[in-house]
Amino acid sequence: MAQQGTINVTTDNIFPIIKQFLYSDQEIFLRELVSNAVDATQKRKMLAQLGEVAEITDTPQVEVVIDDEANTLTIRDAGIGMTAEEIDKYINQIAFSGATDFLEKYKDADAKQAIIGHFGLGFYSAFMVADRVDIVTLSQREGSQAVKWSCDGSPNFSLEDIEKDAAGTDIVLHISEDAKEYLAEERIRGILNTYCKFMPVEIVQGTKSEYVDDPEGATDEDGKVKKVSVDVPFVVNKTEPAWTKKPADLSDEDYNEFYRDLYPMNFEDPLFHIHLNVDFPFNLTGILYLQKNRIHLYSNQVFITDNVENIVPDFLTLLHGVIDSPDIPLNVSRSYLQEDANVKKISGHISKKVSDKLAQMFKKDREAFEAQWDDLRVFVEYGMLTDEKFAERAQKFFLYKDTTGKCHTHEELMAAVGETQKDKHGKVILPYTPHAEGQHSYVKEATDRGYTVLVMDGPLAAHVVSKLEQTHSDVQFKRVDADIADKLVEKDEELSSALDEKQEETLKPILEGAFPGESYKVKFAPMSPTSAPLVITQSEFMRRMKEQQAVGGGGFTMFGDMPDSYDVTVNANHPLANALLNESDDAKRSALAKQAANLARLSQGLLEGEELTAFIQDGFAQLQQS
Ligand code: ADP
Repeated sequence: MAQQGTINVTTDNIFPIIKQFLYSDQEIFLRELVSNAVDATQKRKMLAQLGEVAEITDTPQVEVVIDDEANTLTIRDAGIGMTAEEIDKYINQIAFSGATDFLEKYKDADAKQAIIGHFGLGFYSAFMVADRVDIVTLSQREGSQAVKWSCDGSPNFSLEDIEKDAAGTDIVLHISEDAKEYLAEERIRGILNTYCKFMPVEIVQGTKSEYVDDPEGATDEDGKVKKVSVDVPFVVNKTEPAWTKKPADLSDEDYNEFYRDLYPMNFEDPLFHIHLNVDFPFNLTGILYLQKNRIHLYSNQVFITDNVENIVPDFLTLLHGVIDSPDIPLNVSRSYLQEDANVKKISGHISKKVSDKLAQMFKKDREAFEAQWDDLRVFVEYGMLTDEKFAERAQKFFLYKDTTGKCHTHEELMAAVGETQKDKHGKVILPYTPHAEGQHSYVKEATDRGYTVLVMDGPLAAHVVSKLEQTHSDVQFKRVDADIADKLVEKDEELSSALDEKQEETLKPILEGAFPGESYKVKFAPMSPTSAPLVITQSEFMRRMKEQQAVGGGGFTMFGDMPDSYDVTVNANHPLANALLNESDDAKRSALAKQAANLARLSQGLLEGEELTAFIQDGFAQLQQS
């Protein structure tokens, strides 16, 4: 029985459209065909279990065979196969019933982007790379006739009876001139590795060499059986990936090994893993990992987007791994996904799992947790900023690190500093620094007064500090250079000043003249004579707003464009103030003021460029004179 026919399509010729439509994602044809082959194999296994067809004796395999002489790529399975009727139903009719709808729905470019990689064009995607496709198939049904269907990419096909021994299907692609790359073994293995790595039936592509004991039993001088190289079939995939197993059956090493399977280019073990296994109220399995280097990669992203304000827990995107859920709709856009009720439940669940895991790690081995904290921190902070529930739960394990390297939970910190650092308004002041070394003089002034200085660094610090103040209304963060050390924690007692108002008025213009421009405001305060003569500070509020602005989200735009402004506090009790007052030579006096101003700027990292060079040259010149 040979037969000619026309494929039932409403569009004249769909193949050029297929070719063009998915051109950028051409390679997915292989995923489509291999998963069809895997499905057919599994259906046959199932029928065998039900006793409806003969048992398949060996481990069934799907083979991907390259023939570069015939220019064909064949996907071969020992699955259920198809009868002529089934080909007519599934290939000739069904495959195109939705084609017009499909094209209508996805005609604009955005939607096209959204579906690429999710929506399978199925069997017909073969025509992206083939001039002609043959289906050679024998149904597993008793007494079936094997058939060959052939189509050259026009809506015309032929169907004929043939001889075939075993049930199953060969899909033979006659690779087109411009798709020759799909005849190269490396390319094919690459694609299989990307898309088919965890499919549940063994997929074989070509062979690999393996060293085995010589089957003839030949021995070397030491009497040991010789090893010989033999070619064995190369199995591409792991049919039982870790996430399909029970957590109780997996060790930490199993999880790390699976991680290496997923991300062969990552050489470090992940920081932690979470195994998801939910049946109700939605179905979800998977394993998520958090890895060090990833965090850095993504924390860059935080800089350029203002995701920080999003409601959906964006921080979960920092995790990577696999999630498998029939309840996540795939062929919809991202914005729709965020509104999806199941997706909301799922992300809530994952977020809870993550905080439980971190709390458990903290409780079980605090020392190890502290050792990992620098790596975990950005992740936890990002979570606290984007997910209110996570922020609440994170209070149990969020750690403040001080400049001595000691870690404190919020509770512990309050117990330690609650009294000494309480100011006259009843707020507990938490001095912090983004960079203990760079702000050393400020840090020292604060620690000399018995304060604990926290290290708040990383891209999110400015936001985190504000977030913590919102959560704990009794604390206030002040960067160590937000005010002179005596005023960081404002108490009632004040030191008496060695300068009177008139003397301050005399000194003010001299010192103002020693600083460039308008951005430095000079004022006087009585401090300890051993403190610095001049201290440059920057208001906490302004600086923090600007920083938040720079990172994105949370701040007000108007601060971003404002120039930096600094307060210069003159220590009225320092001998230098007196020295300036008593110097009668104007030139010497302004040189002295300038020198002091430059030193103050230097300690705040504000002396740069030409001014810095000139300052250093002057310093060297003075060395020579003395
Ligand atoms: P989908 O797989 O999404 O249903 P396809 O166009 O890929 O769409 O395939 C259409 C149908 O053709 C399948 O549902 C299946 O019934 C049949 N089919 C395709 N490939 C095979 C195969 N290798 N063995 C048996 N049946 C197949």
